[in-house]
Amino acid sequence: MVLLDRAPVGDGVTSACGAPVSIVRAMGAEASIQLIHDRLVLHTRAGETVWPLPEPFCTFDYRRFCELAFAHAGVEFIQAAVTGRSGSTVRTSRGDFSGTLLVDATGWRAVLAGGPGSPYVNRRWMAFGIESEVECAFEPGLHFYFLPEVRDGYAWAFPTGGIVRFGVLSYLGRSKLGAALAQFMSRFGLRPRSVHGGFLASGLRPAVVDGVFVAGDASGQCLPLTGEGIRTAVLAGFRCGELLRQVLDGELTRDQAAEEYQAFLAKSRRKFRALAWANLALLALPRLAVTTAKILGRPGLLEPLLAHYLDVFTYPSVRPTDETLPVHSGRL
Ligand SMILES: Cc1cc2nc3c(=O)[nH]c(=O)nc-3n(C[C@H](O)[C@H](O)[C@H](O)COP(=O)(O)OP(=O)(O)OC[C@H]3O[C@@H](n4cnc5c(N)ncnc54)[C@H](O)[C@@H]3O)c2cc1C
Repeated sequence: MVLLDRAPVGDGVTSACGAPVSIVRAMGAEASIQLIHDRLVLHTRAGETVWPLPEPFCTFDYRRFCELAFAHAGVEFIQAAVTGRSGSTVRTSRGDFSGTLLVDATGWRAVLAGGPGSPYVNRRWMAFGIESEVECAFEPGLHFYFLPEVRDGYAWAFPTGGIVRFGVLSYLGRSKLGAALAQFMSRFGLRPRSVHGGFLASGLRPAVVDGVFVAGDASGQCLPLTGEGIRTAVLAGFRCGELLRQVLDGELTRDQAAEEYQAFLAKSRRKFRALAWANLALLALPRLAVTTAKILGRPGLLEPLLAHYLDVFTYPSVRPTDETLPVHSGRL
């Protein structure tokens, strides 16, 4: 098995790296955890609402996460930029590679399944975000802000223990967000340092294209509204990998595996649609964030909704951790 990537393992972080602890553990990357979080804090112009999380989330170190996950994967790594495909031959900057089973996990570009300019890359459901990491003290929790500087999206502050990731996101995919990030950070008396980011691809596209299995943002698996894409990419990746293992072991044909993979994703289609509608509603009525935060802050309403949200793409061996974890206490 070979993993082709244009960059070395762990290079090119785009994300704020907030994910459920159970996901990071399932990837064998627990040692990358920087801080555990037990709550979301929503900030609107009307005030602040705290939503307790039904399972612990964490912020983690991207490079360490990738290195640890890769060490568990048992695959060969070749650094090569993929430029396209002809049947089962993958064209790269290092020459051609022929594969029996191909998986496209190249993020929003979907290089094997679609490629730039292809109708497969659905720009309608493409958000864009940037962030900058700055050393400072911060209140516990994962903080989301619905503020005038990003009317078509939101801002965030994710503490990691000493360092805080400040970011802004446009649901409409606006990529000129530098001024909005600077304005947002100036609320805390801070200025952006080096900035990274990119597109987030939602909207569930076909999961198998011309025999190529597609996982993560390449298949539009990032959740609309929240922009959470790590959990979905990991869970879909696990299911995809498990099915392809069965093909290699002669237990399934490739077509059967494709059907099963599509069925796995189809189970969550309604949840994606509901989030997409909520996303559209928020774009049309930005003040909805204030009302929603307040209403769901009432006891009894939030828990079932969050549990439903966290139930997307379930995978039997990845269960929410039920032990009590030390929160905000730095590394595990
Ligand atoms: C600013 C920002 C903050 C975010 N914060 C969070 C967060 O806190 N929590 C969360 O859950 N989600 C977050 N997301 C979304 C999340 O990062 C993505 O949904 C997730 O990374 C998708 O994973 P992926 O493996 O599909 O794609 P990616 O993480 O984009 O990985 C794609 C890989 O493909 C490689 N690649 C690309 N093109 C080629 C090519 N031509 N040839 C070879 N290799 C190639 C890249 O080098 C990369 O390694 C955020 C996104 C952004 C932009």
